[in-house]
Amino acid sequence: MTDYQTIIEQIHNDLLKHKSYGEVAAYIPELAMVDAEKFGVCLSTIDGQIYHVGDWQEHFSIQSIVKVMLLSMAYTKLGGQLWQRVGVEPSGTPFNSLGTLEHDNGIPRNPFSNAGALVVCDVLLDVYDDPKQAILEMFRDISGDPGIEFDPVVAASEKATGYRNVALVNFLRSLGNINNHVEQVFNLYLDCCSISMNSEQLARSFLVYANNGKTLDGQTQLLNSSQTKRMNAIMLTCGFYDEAGDFAYQVGLPGKSGVGGGIVAVLPKHFSIAVWSPRLNEKGNSYRGLKFLERFTSATGESIF
Ligand code: GLN
Repeated sequence: MTDYQTIIEQIHNDLLKHKSYGEVAAYIPELAMVDAEKFGVCLSTIDGQIYHVGDWQEHFSIQSIVKVMLLSMAYTKLGGQLWQRVGVEPSGTPFNSLGTLEHDNGIPRNPFSNAGALVVCDVLLDVYDDPKQAILEMFRDISGDPGIEFDPVVAASEKATGYRNVALVNFLRSLGNINNHVEQVFNLYLDCCSISMNSEQLARSFLVYANNGKTLDGQTQLLNSSQTKRMNAIMLTCGFYDEAGDFAYQVGLPGKSGVGGGIVAVLPKHFSIAVWSPRLNEKGNSYRGLKFLERFTSATGESIF
């Protein structure tokens, strides 16, 4: 059996000895205040084991990682019809790009770009009475932790400065792919991005993607097996924007990053692993998070390939 605790401690200690490059996400003023040197990891396995190292207990803003949950909840409601509103192709563009939308008639290339996630939020507003609460409850449920909360300070900070997201939601509406009021869609998206979790809560939540869509106790089925397979495929191909190919090449796991510095990745049928380190590379992905996971799958030989 793989000695996960020793491996994660070794990699964590080793990376701490090297300088971490990159910058925190200062375009969201509140995230600019986060301690850039934080570094936490949690691994949870589908046989119920948990391993941690570093700042795993500290909460951080999950940001774009929430797009996986937004999509899961819209997908279970709409099934394949959802793909009429948003594609499943890697975009090769930055997360906040407006670039291809006009050419693509307002159909975002994939649900993990900001444009795609805004369309998914619009769908959620149509199918849930209170989508914001539904997302939070689902995270509480699948993580087994009722303490997960929004961070209203982060949400307000981003709402005050989120000019690109304002542009995106208005552009999408003008192209006919938003039905609800733009403010409602914008607010839902940014409230959800502000959800605060620690590495353990995140790793526990994402175990559903390693466990055929259900929690370990079998009490909650977020997705069926076929939907879980597809969610993992989208994470692999689109989870890291214009760095998705690099992540697949270097790490070899489906995963998702956020500009709060979190990355969560999954080995289906085995484990989920969350890493948090706030310094981001130029693609908006955690510098140390990527390095950690690359070393982790190399050391264990455990990846999907
Ligand atoms: N809330 C952030 C934004 O919309 C999320 C981006 C990210 O985490 N990549 O810009």
